[in-house]
Amino acid sequence: MRVSAKLPCLHDLPTVMSRFLHRCALLSFLLLSLAACAASPTRPAAPATPLLVVSIDGLRADALGRGDTPVLDRLARDGVHAEGMRPSYPVLTFPNHYTLATGLRPDHHGVVHNSMKDPQLGRFVVADAQAATVAGWWQAEPLWTTAERANLATAVWAWPGATAARDGILPRQRQAFDAKIPMHERIERVAGWVTAPQGPRPALVAMYFEMVDGAGHDHGPHAQQTRAAIREVDTAIGELLARLEQAGVVPNVVVVSDHGMADAPNLIAVEDMAAMEEAEVVSIGQVIGLAPREGHEATVRARLLGRRQRYECWEKPAIPARLHYGTHPRIPPIVCQMDEGWNALPRAMIERRDAAGVHNAGAHGYDPDLPSMRAVFLAHGPAFRKGTRLPVIDNVDVYPLLVRMLGLPLRQGDGDPATLAPVLASP
Ligand code: AMP
Ligand code: ZN
Ligand code: ZN
Repeated sequence: MRVSAKLPCLHDLPTVMSRFLHRCALLSFLLLSLAACAASPTRPAAPATPLLVVSIDGLRADALGRGDTPVLDRLARDGVHAEGMRPSYPVLTFPNHYTLATGLRPDHHGVVHNSMKDPQLGRFVVADAQAATVAGWWQAEPLWTTAERANLATAVWAWPGATAARDGILPRQRQAFDAKIPMHERIERVAGWVTAPQGPRPALVAMYFEMVDGAGHDHGPHAQQTRAAIREVDTAIGELLARLEQAGVVPNVVVVSDHGMADAPNLIAVEDMAAMEEAEVVSIGQVIGLAPREGHEATVRARLLGRRQRYECWEKPAIPARLHYGTHPRIPPIVCQMDEGWNALPRAMIERRDAAGVHNAGAHGYDPDLPSMRAVFLAHGPAFRKGTRLPVIDNVDVYPLLVRMLGLPLRQGDGDPATLAPVLASP
């Protein structure tokens, strides 16, 4: 609301004085009522301390403290820092981002791979922005939806799953994934969301950065280009926090990654694992999903199951219990896990890449217990105990902490609320 500078009560005209005095009284009453309205409990107050969750795709736990991450190192030193975070299986981007947002293993939230098939919904791949808007793929309610239901405003930048409306609910402010948006614009817009002078300020802000993962795949986890991407994201987070501080906002910050990154230059053709006439390949890369074709079940099983030179294959029910995977209908009957450093791709794709001179140097999707796959967890802000060090935690344990910080009811999930409860200043 704007109040005109030309208030009649400033005029000194006796003939109209009494009328203006009356108007002044009315105006004062209106202004007082507005002020009372703003303080009324019926209108959600702007949260003094928003929760900012930042995900840096593909950032290894051991990438911190090496001179590339002064901002993250300061947050970790003055806040909470886990030695590492074990991703959920499979160690891929979409399954793990949705685990962080729901507290459920991929086997339970339905995003069982970056590439999936569903008898009703068809095919899902990461690059298909349209498929990502279909709520049926995302089978558990994410944090931002629960927050919005409780009338907490949320703002989400490119977190996987946030473009799918559930019961018509989307994050109040949102930006779909778009790698072309320059970094300074991202920071500007997210800072604008958090410090908006009008409208509800978000209680939860979730922000996703993809460039460390991209550089890690193209050049390997330890390459100069990957280190430059890490520095770029670290600087951007520093700029965002500085912008918020200038506006008087000191958020509680949680920084995570979805998984690490391994040197992975080695390729085999998926056709050398199983004949295409005998099995349908549902997913490729590091976690290979195969569905034997009718009449070929025994041959495919005999050829694949067990330990092989570059990989290990299991029938769905025999996947090791520690991986918490194998009950969801979208998981194909046979799953093969590549050894660290190895990728299985269709022969035609390998040939196309060779011809174009494209060679992947890094990958994830390997055993979640490998040190190279360990993700980042750190937290900083008024809600957290300073100088808290933790051992390696499981990424399903993050969601209960976030739920508690937002004051939302905790539903039964796969995480343990006790793991991160001690990191809170008032546990
Ligand atoms: P991946 O390495 O296969 O697990 O996929 C992660 C990569 O996918 C990132 O490096 C991004 O470039 C890209 N990506 C991340 N989020 C999205 C999205 N919502 N839509 C399309 N591509 C995405
Ligand atoms: Zn990722
Ligand atoms: Zn990746």
